[in-house]
Amino acid sequence: MSKIKVLDEQLANQIAAGEVVERPSSVVKELVENAIDAGSTEIDIAIEEGGLTLVRVKDNGGGIEPDDIITAFQRHATSKISTSSDLFRIASLGFRGEALPSIAAVSRLTCISSNADTGLARKLVIEGGNVTADEPVSAPRGTDMSVRDLFYNTPARLKYMKSIQTELGHISDYINRLALAHPGIAFTLKHNGNVLLRTMGTGDRLQVIAAIYGTSAAKAMLPVAGSDPDYELTGFISKPDLTRANRNGITAVVNGRYIRSHAVNQSLLQAYHTLLPINRFPLVVLELGMHPGLLDVNVHPSKMEVRFSKEAELRALIERTVKAALGAHRYIPGASTGSSRSKPLYVQD
Ligand code: ADP
Ligand code: MG
Repeated sequence: MSKIKVLDEQLANQIAAGEVVERPSSVVKELVENAIDAGSTEIDIAIEEGGLTLVRVKDNGGGIEPDDIITAFQRHATSKISTSSDLFRIASLGFRGEALPSIAAVSRLTCISSNADTGLARKLVIEGGNVTADEPVSAPRGTDMSVRDLFYNTPARLKYMKSIQTELGHISDYINRLALAHPGIAFTLKHNGNVLLRTMGTGDRLQVIAAIYGTSAAKAMLPVAGSDPDYELTGFISKPDLTRANRNGITAVVNGRYIRSHAVNQSLLQAYHTLLPINRFPLVVLELGMHPGLLDVNVHPSKMEVRFSKEAELRALIERTVKAALGAHRYIPGASTGSSRSKPLYVQD
């Protein structure tokens, strides 16, 4: 008798969940990214007990077609890519088709979604990967996902969870980054009924900076803008007199995705050079736009790490643009914005 067999789908999903759903903030990340990909302009996130008892994400995006809703919870099921060439020009935040089946395998999930303005929606309840209810309901266009009792059926993972405060910290940090990345979306984050963040969705990134870091921080920001043939860079950097004790105040956004990049951080700090006191870091939001073909996001399941095709050019652009902005405000003598952007800047140090 053959000893090797293919795992059943439920078990395979539970294994994948170990990688995709590390903690409550991973659920928040995946659900909110789906809401952004669905073109939502309003996303409400409600958390209870650090996300361990409830993560609810409600959006006003395009919704899921009633006939597609079961498929959406199948492994490797996605509406975002279809050919291997798509993989090399990813324009959405998701594409792996792994989040929903993974989350549903390790929680009690309710999904209500409607893709029309008729008020007709479909509701699906999945507990530990098994569909326990499936019925027509009435709901506005959009999607409402509630994930309860995360890891209830994987006690080893549950035991590993940190305090409510720690889990909430991860969630709040991630939502802040997404709100900075998407100033055109109105985000609300509530924990146990208390509003932790509310953004207006006006498209004004300084407003989002003010909502997260306070109005005095927002007032101490300088705009940056620059480009080269491949990359477009915009954002805000703090004046050198507003600094922080760590790098957490640096948010880098690439094609709408919040990423962590050593290359971006390094070139940014290089531009400030001696303007920052030792072990102090600026508050920065940088948005980079580029052709998706120049970017590899398929490095890690969380997609927070990326590879740039022309990293040296990108580093040079960031350094040049940030120096120019600091120069324009006389923080760097001799450096200025305007037509000299493509010329090397000479920094006095
Ligand atoms: P991926 O995002 O990688 O495609 P997911 O498992 O996260 O995979 O979601 C599967 C599919 O379900 C998505 O491709 C999308 O079509 C649909 N979907 C999930 N969440 C939403 C949402 N909030 N609004 C509309 N469609 C959604
Ligand atoms: Mg997704």
